[in-house]
Amino acid sequence: MNILLFGPNGSGKGTQGAIVKEKYQIPHIETGVIFRDNISKGTDLGKKAKEYIDRGELVPDTITIPMILERLKGDDCRNGWLLDGFPRNLTQARELDNALKAEGIDLDIVIEIILDREIAKKRIMGRRLCVNDNNHPNNVYIDAIRPNGDKCRICGGDLKTRSDDQDEDAIDKRHNIYYDTENGTMAAINHFKALSRQNNGSPRIVEIDGRPGVKEVSRELLQELG
Ligand code: AMP
Repeated sequence: MNILLFGPNGSGKGTQGAIVKEKYQIPHIETGVIFRDNISKGTDLGKKAKEYIDRGELVPDTITIPMILERLKGDDCRNGWLLDGFPRNLTQARELDNALKAEGIDLDIVIEIILDREIAKKRIMGRRLCVNDNNHPNNVYIDAIRPNGDKCRICGGDLKTRSDDQDEDAIDKRHNIYYDTENGTMAAINHFKALSRQNNGSPRIVEIDGRPGVKEVSRELLQELG
């Protein structure tokens, strides 16, 4: 099963990706993770990518596209893959499409977690980390996981914020890329939707409402995937 996963920063995409990976037993390939691994290992790729990532810009397509196409040839991808964070713009979508066609590989499913820009931003800024356990969910903007006063709703521990979650400029920069319907990620999503319409519903488009809590979104996603 070959799957693309889309959703803005703040939509809970990471959690849903882990669920899809588990369901189909396929590798979860995240562009951001590959870049961060390369940066921490100090590879040439990491050095080149870092300057762009630090500025909140996309790493150039000339670096990113070949890296991902190579990754999809990995042994672990024989039964399929879940791509997350790629394609992020229209050029990447077209190149992926061409490469898959050239190799005779079908794209099976495109998942889009739909979330309004303002809500996505609030969710990022509303995240609170429990000093006792990072996995304790707390968010001042999500009713289902609202903290208990200023304490963790699970254990009563103190809460803090992640500095990058509070950087509005950085959030806006990333969302500018995601919500751009001309050349950005939304343009990539629309590219696959048009392809699906031309091609009798292939790839299958699965649109998920990202507004409910993470658990409800997971439930709906699994139901839709069947
Ligand atoms: P992420 O962890 O997905 O938020 O990605 C972290 C950073 O890696 C992004 O802000 C970009 O600088 C870079 N990056 C991730 N995916 C891509 C992509 N498909 N194309 C270009 N740059 C990317």
